Amino acid sequence: MSLHCRFCNTPLTQSFCDLGMSPLSNANIQPEQMNQMERFYPLHAYVCNKCWLVQLDSFEAPDHIFDADYAYFSSYSDSWLAHANAYVEQMTRRWQLDDNSHVVEIASNDGYLLQYFVAQGIPVLGVEPTANTASVARAKNVPTLEKFFGVATATELANEGKYADLLLGNNVLAHVPNLNDFVGGMKILLKGDGVITMEFPHLLQLIRNNQFDTIYHEHFSYLSFITVEQVFAAHGLTLFDVEELSTHGGSLRIYAKHKEDKTKPVTDAVTALKLKEVEAGLNEAAVYSSFAEQVRETKRGLLEFLIEAKRNGKSIVGYGAPAKGNTLLNYCGVRSDFIDYTVDRSPHKQGTFLPGTHIPIHHPERIAETKPDYILILPWNLKEELIGQLSYAREWGAKFVLPIPRVEVID
Ligand SMILES: [Zn+2]
Repeated sequence: MSLHCRFCNTPLTQSFCDLGMSPLSNANIQPEQMNQMERFYPLHAYVCNKCWLVQLDSFEAPDHIFDADYAYFSSYSDSWLAHANAYVEQMTRRWQLDDNSHVVEIASNDGYLLQYFVAQGIPVLGVEPTANTASVARAKNVPTLEKFFGVATATELANEGKYADLLLGNNVLAHVPNLNDFVGGMKILLKGDGVITMEFPHLLQLIRNNQFDTIYHEHFSYLSFITVEQVFAAHGLTLFDVEELSTHGGSLRIYAKHKEDKTKPVTDAVTALKLKEVEAGLNEAAVYSSFAEQVRETKRGLLEFLIEAKRNGKSIVGYGAPAKGNTLLNYCGVRSDFIDYTVDRSPHKQGTFLPGTHIPIHHPERIAETKPDYILILPWNLKEELIGQLSYAREWGAKFVLPIPRVEVID
């Protein structure tokens, strides 16, 4: 079997990071499944030597895998809601959106973001394939089309005249298996002078900050600006602005328009970011080939810390059950021999076990009951929010541990 780039179809020959065999990160184990066989799939990222798209090896998997993190994320993170609200205010002002505008969000989840446009009387449409989140959105008066997005869905909407003045997608571009069909669909649905914004984790931060645990099966592509610019250009779309955000360990928010739209000049931010990526070597093979050793060293460092703590009789628990935690724990071989349990605010996860490692997931109250010595923060991208919520654990002298970019203990 030969692999080809999901954007430009060039054969993939350069390995970026091989994390071995891993279960799907959203495949939490129910108590009655504990004695059953579990499916593991290769978790191996490659880089295309023509367009520099970092991407997962194709693997045999269920038809529609989706990212459970984002499916439940919105309702349980205060900082994410604040981020969405600030975005809505910024876009409404900058693009002068009003009751004549039409805002479309792809992967609109439970309406966590569109609800703020609705509150301002701006017409919206959410596109969301997951039935349970779509129905929560409708209950918030966010009209939601229960479909996957691509050329077919975009054509259907365009035929009904439902073009978008603002077309947005947060944490979806990296998660679509068919990148060309997805971006091709955006070209069709965007109004002549409309704007697309997309947010995604920035590959430059992944490499610099060693965020290898953001590699998991539901996350097909790992994106730099220079690569995304090529993908959009291939579909007649031009990136004209960009912002660097702190979300998810460092994300980009890109702004795109039709190539034919002359009303929006390309900003200095675009020129500066492209220069930054080129200076970091993202358009050359070397930076990609040195990443794997960085990852192996992080594993050695984490295991060293865990082994020493256990030898000293310390108790360690986890906080959170994000997809990235599953990559980290499975790759490092950390099971309940090191981590007694983890906790999560989402009731969908409580009472289940992490895939592969079978670490139990409890309600956060469990931490106050068992008073562990160390709390390993698995969603490290939310460290400020979580360490704030967990400050009561300092009363018994608990310390917080961040695994990425390298083990760090916080008193
Ligand atoms: Zn390529």
